[in-house]
Amino acid sequence: MSGFSAGDLRQMLSRLRDVMAGVGVVQERLDKVVALIAQGLKADVCSCYVMRAGEVLELFATYGLSQTAVHLTRLRVGEGLVGEIAAHARPVALADAWSHPQFVYRPETGEDFFRSLMGVPMFQAGRVIGVLVVQTREQRPFNDWEVETLETVAMVIAELMAATQIVKREELFQAEGNALLPLRLTGETLHSGVGIGVAVMHRPHVRIGRLVSDDPRVEEQRLHVALATLRKEVDALMDGSHESALYGDILEVYRMFADDRGWISRISEAISTGLTAEAAVQRVHDDTRARMMQVSDPILRERLHDLDDLANRLLNILSGGGMRAELPDNAILICRTIGPTELLNYDRRKLRGLVMEEGSPTMHAVVVAKALDLPVVAQVQGALQRIDAYDLLVLDATAGQIILRPSEEVIDLTTVAVEARARQKEAYAAVKNLPSVTRDGVPIALYLNAGFLMDMQALDETNAAGVGLYRTEMPFLALPTLPDVRAQQALYRQVVETANGRPVTFRTLDVGGDKIAASTGAMSEDNPAMGWRSIRLTLDRPSLLRQQLRALINASAGGRLRVMFPMIATVSEFDTARHILEMELKRQKANGGAPAEVQVGTMLEVPSLLWQLDALASRADFISVGSNDLMQFIFAADRGNTRVAARYDTLSPAALRMLRSIVERCGQGKVELSVCGEMAGRPLEALALLAIGFRTLSMSATAVGPVRAMVRSLDLAQAALYVTELLDSDVPTLREYLRAFAHDRGIALG
Ligand code: PEP
Ligand code: MG
Repeated sequence: MSGFSAGDLRQMLSRLRDVMAGVGVVQERLDKVVALIAQGLKADVCSCYVMRAGEVLELFATYGLSQTAVHLTRLRVGEGLVGEIAAHARPVALADAWSHPQFVYRPETGEDFFRSLMGVPMFQAGRVIGVLVVQTREQRPFNDWEVETLETVAMVIAELMAATQIVKREELFQAEGNALLPLRLTGETLHSGVGIGVAVMHRPHVRIGRLVSDDPRVEEQRLHVALATLRKEVDALMDGSHESALYGDILEVYRMFADDRGWISRISEAISTGLTAEAAVQRVHDDTRARMMQVSDPILRERLHDLDDLANRLLNILSGGGMRAELPDNAILICRTIGPTELLNYDRRKLRGLVMEEGSPTMHAVVVAKALDLPVVAQVQGALQRIDAYDLLVLDATAGQIILRPSEEVIDLTTVAVEARARQKEAYAAVKNLPSVTRDGVPIALYLNAGFLMDMQALDETNAAGVGLYRTEMPFLALPTLPDVRAQQALYRQVVETANGRPVTFRTLDVGGDKIAASTGAMSEDNPAMGWRSIRLTLDRPSLLRQQLRALINASAGGRLRVMFPMIATVSEFDTARHILEMELKRQKANGGAPAEVQVGTMLEVPSLLWQLDALASRADFISVGSNDLMQFIFAADRGNTRVAARYDTLSPAALRMLRSIVERCGQGKVELSVCGEMAGRPLEALALLAIGFRTLSMSATAVGPVRAMVRSLDLAQAALYVTELLDSDVPTLREYLRAFAHDRGIALG
């Protein structure tokens, strides 16, 4: 295979196209294809394995192995090297395949003589649909160009297989059970709520008509015209006054991707190997996708969704398709994953929910869905295979489930729940202007947690007192580097303007070393939650912190600036961070135009601070308890690990005693105190927090209504007495006691 050039690849691709497009029995055409590849790549064997029902890879065609093994040899995903390639969606290239621990010998194939093996996954719509393998007798290594060549060939075959229906979808994924019976699918709740509607399959995958080109220059030209259109489309979305006000920060990330030199030059390179512009976009995208799948960091993997969205848009433009789909009146979108602009392209008045096979809480599309209050269930295995377009669905996102073809009874019950939820929303909206005061007259300040511009619209909707936690890192997580001071300043300015005089507490960047890897040169870490992250990173790279503080100071000129530092573990870290802020303030004052008032605070989320509270309270203007991190460190239980999630309770006496001691100590230091972790937004937990002395809570937008209702129905003195007694007892948790207490006294728990 050595000496194989780009010209050879072009020639092989056009031969493959001719064979696949030709007439004849399917099996014969596939046999010719594998023979062509083996000869073209000067390999002794080329085999094509196709994914069949039950996650099994079947040998579909081979050149060089025994023909009797075709349709007989089957490997489970994860079994043998072929199964390994499919399981991890990544190539394998081995000079000595036999010595690899994953190697499985199948005598019927007659592969005794072949030492070296190179295999790559074949994708269709981002899903592995098979594996293409070449083997040689001679023991020899494979270089990157050879692997990439085989990947290009695999992509072309996968697309041709789909276009010519060589293997039908229903053969690939066998339908389960009786298609008329109700079926329950489960997943992760990313935004709760209930909806009834018909399934709309969001299929961004564009069938590529032409794969192989005869003139790379024409394709290069087409690519550049399409890229220009893509930029215009993103700009148009940004200029739509509503969208740009709410999603400007998300779309900006997008525009940066659309201009990414690395991405564009990789597509150009693929064009030079003989692919059409659309095939080249697909090829680079498959490759990026496969690489990103290997990244364990969930936030970095989220870049994938934005790239998916962008690549699909570009493919649509190149193939002349439109993106806006017509929706039925009650639509529940079903997708593997979706990009934020794709979601915004649908008529949001007709959307009732979103179901994803993948998806995670911080992906941009979920941020958009939350702002639209669209119920979302993610990580629903097999959703695309089991749900068909126009299937009637009940989406019970609150319980993390989807009921397919529901019975009359389920529909009736769900209709009642949908109506009740709508009534409850109206009820919260109706009392949003009533004071947040307990029945015995204690005022409780309710603030919002925000991270995107679009979250700011909830200030008016909920009538929250301000933003208690603005997670500044959110829009930047998808970027390889941080935006410059000017871009950050523009964003913060918009936040301040939409707050319209209400205070906003900006938390400085809370990112792990691996999240802005390109700009910091960080290494991956074994234990990132306790690693080089957050304030540790920005103190070690003070230019990042200085730039952000400068942007915040400029954006707040003439007004009030509240800055909060995350992950502070020692008083001296707080002093150093504050000193950097003061230097920037001094600099800005000299230039004219500093904020009229500055308040500096810290998150309390590292347990070591519990024993430095006196010193901290005398230095900080405010302290906000980040109970998400604080609890994970107190109980040594990873906050993202569902296996340990239920083991420790934030309403256990240990946790509440710890929190009560914070109130007592901070009360003496006269420092402003709040809670901004998730527990502040759950009515029952919020009740406990108020009972032990907290008076300011910051929470997500959807929590403000229910917590306000709880506050207004609470007799705080009674609750404080009750909780104090329980905290001195040895009950394992206060949860059930508090629930009964609330029930007996008519306290609203949402
Ligand atoms: C927390 O840790 O409680 C917190 C509010 O910060 P984050 O969830 O962003 O880590
Ligand atoms: Mg935290």
